[in-house]
Amino acid sequence: MKFIVCVKLTPDTEQLAEVRAEDVGSDDLGVTMVLNPWDEFAVEEALQLQERFEGETAVVTLGSADATEALKRAVAMGIEEAFLLSDPAFDGSDAWGTTHVLAQAIRKIGDYSLILTGRQSVDGNSGLIGPGLATSLGVPFVAQVAKIVDLTEETVTVKRSLDEGMQTVRVKLPAVLSVSKEINEPRYPNFMGIRKASKMQYPVIKAKDLPGLNKAQIGEGAALVKWTSLRKPPARTGKCEFIAGATVADQAAALADKLIAEKVI
Ligand SMILES: Cc1cc2nc3c(=O)[nH]c(=O)nc-3n(C[C@H](O)[C@H](O)[C@H](O)COP(=O)(O)OP(=O)(O)OC[C@H]3O[C@@H](n4cnc5c(N)ncnc54)[C@H](O)[C@@H]3O)c2cc1C
Repeated sequence: MKFIVCVKLTPDTEQLAEVRAEDVGSDDLGVTMVLNPWDEFAVEEALQLQERFEGETAVVTLGSADATEALKRAVAMGIEEAFLLSDPAFDGSDAWGTTHVLAQAIRKIGDYSLILTGRQSVDGNSGLIGPGLATSLGVPFVAQVAKIVDLTEETVTVKRSLDEGMQTVRVKLPAVLSVSKEINEPRYPNFMGIRKASKMQYPVIKAKDLPGLNKAQIGEGAALVKWTSLRKPPARTGKCEFIAGATVADQAAALADKLIAEKVI
């Protein structure tokens, strides 16, 4: 069995406040880029599936050469094979174009049983890649997977966490699953893993390497969805006031008076 994880390099959310307004939407946001936090759960799940059911693991990302950092993190965690999809022809693709490239590359990487994605990326945030990929490959898709209950040669049985409870779903393999954060606790890479990741070669798959690629579906010119504007929200304004009072009860009473006066309650 082969478990393939799709990962994306995204900005470190701790540093998002530092992105300068003029850099929003550019390729270089001027902040540290890391493995999309949601994708750590997908990487961890692939590793746990390998431990439970045996098989091979691979990770794939579409992006610039910098995206290798996302692959490195996945390899440091324990993933065996890693592929970077990078070509100027892919630049500016929308989600449909991105999933088309990923689907062609996954076909090339080989016989796969399960493709795992994160729930969403912390920058694009569309959650479109999982369902788009399944559509491109013509395989089933299950979102918000909170537990993989069982895996056979033919099917995977999963639990999905819903607002009103849990749903158990069984789908035929191969399939694409997007995982939620309830599914596991991602491991930290150990020293050996980090060393392996830093020494490993990361093959680059280009447009010419993908015979099934429909060039009319990829790149900026083919994008059906255009991001016409992207900007930072205005900085929040507000004032902080400490409520004085001799006792906690006095402070609570003063706070209640204030909230009533401001018509908050
Ligand atoms: C400079 C720039 C301009 C762009 N312009 C446009 C535009 O005009 N129109 C438009 O529609 N989009 C545009 N995009 C967005 C691009 O199409 C998306 O980044 C891509 O489709 C992924 O969508 P998402 O980030 O919403 O991921 P989601 O769908 O939220 O991600 C879900 C999961 O899919 C996987 N995944 C996501 N991205 C990748 C990837 N690259 N490689 C492998 N796996 C991945 C991860 O597991 C992730 O957790 C632009 C991006 C950049 C950087």
